[in-house]
Amino acid sequence: MSRVFYFFLTVTAFPLWAQDPTVDLLRKLADAPGPPGFEEPVRKLMVEALKPYAQSIRYDGMGSILATQGAEGPRIMVDAHMDELGGVVRRITPRGLLTMQMLGGWLDQALVDQRWTIIGSKGPVHAVTGIRDAHVVPAEERARVFSRDSLFLDVGAQSEIEVRNMGIGPGSPVVPDAPFTVLNGTDNYLGKGWDDRAGCAVIVEAIRRLASLPHGNQIIWALTTQEEVGLRGAHTAADAARPDIGIALEAGVTGDVNGRPEESQEKLGGGPGIFLYNSSQVPNRKFVDLVKETAAAKKLPLQFDLVQGYGDDSAEIQKSNGGVPTVCLLVPVRYTHAHNGIMNRRDFDQAVELLVALIERLDAPAVQKLRDFTP
Ligand SMILES: [Zn+2]
Repeated sequence: MSRVFYFFLTVTAFPLWAQDPTVDLLRKLADAPGPPGFEEPVRKLMVEALKPYAQSIRYDGMGSILATQGAEGPRIMVDAHMDELGGVVRRITPRGLLTMQMLGGWLDQALVDQRWTIIGSKGPVHAVTGIRDAHVVPAEERARVFSRDSLFLDVGAQSEIEVRNMGIGPGSPVVPDAPFTVLNGTDNYLGKGWDDRAGCAVIVEAIRRLASLPHGNQIIWALTTQEEVGLRGAHTAADAARPDIGIALEAGVTGDVNGRPEESQEKLGGGPGIFLYNSSQVPNRKFVDLVKETAAAKKLPLQFDLVQGYGDDSAEIQKSNGGVPTVCLLVPVRYTHAHNGIMNRRDFDQAVELLVALIERLDAPAVQKLRDFTP
């Protein structure tokens, strides 16, 4: 076999996405475990990724990362949250089963018959939430949703002591076990935690691009904690960042599979989005207009979303520092708050382009204009 032919074989036999650093980034971020209050693995990945491009990296007292880029000009806080939906072990039964306190907005029907990872002191422990056996469920119960408090995590143990010897117990963090997969060679990526690892990855791509682009701002890249239990990290991160304006990056809610138009309006593959409303915040109208103008100038699609049961970090940012104009930009995601979500690569790339173009347009006069409420 000639060397050339051998080279050809080894290169082409390898999946193309394996050579794409963005896929690698998305895979690492999606697979990293990080339920609220246990963001350490995500924090480590993010600090490694931000370090080459940040002038300084510090942490607030709740563990959010504040990475600064630029020394003068208006203070722009760009936010994504590191935590994902999960749970913590509540108690171990004498038979060696575990119960779980959920963290974040889960549906009960998403919890049954799933694989989970419990983060133990001796390493990860595999677990499954069992399901009632179909052979014994009576007719009247066959369509029933089983409540979260009727479920157990089964780690294969027979006793409480066997569970404890695995290095787990009350308070051990639990996350979905749902590894990243490129869906059948398409532009769609399956994984857990796109809310908000998609936003974290947008930040990694944007900080790298902005390192070599001129702009007149101080950007405080904020990777926050405990968003899924009430936007808690963003509150303290905004205290520390003292922003003039804020941009949150989030997972949008698509309505293109089993959705109703009055619930959410985005679709997968339709481009990045912006919240015009959600139950936690109303964005700054002038800032929304600037995002629309930026998307139009860059010929980027922009989807609008108005969702009733959604809170995002920009709600805390806008209430900080005497009031801050904010927007929340979105990477559309199918099936958020579940083990298996889908995001689209083109949507992601365009969200990065939109964010970078938006920051390039900002400088002291532009920010002054956004902050001017004179009638
Ligand atoms: Zn989120």
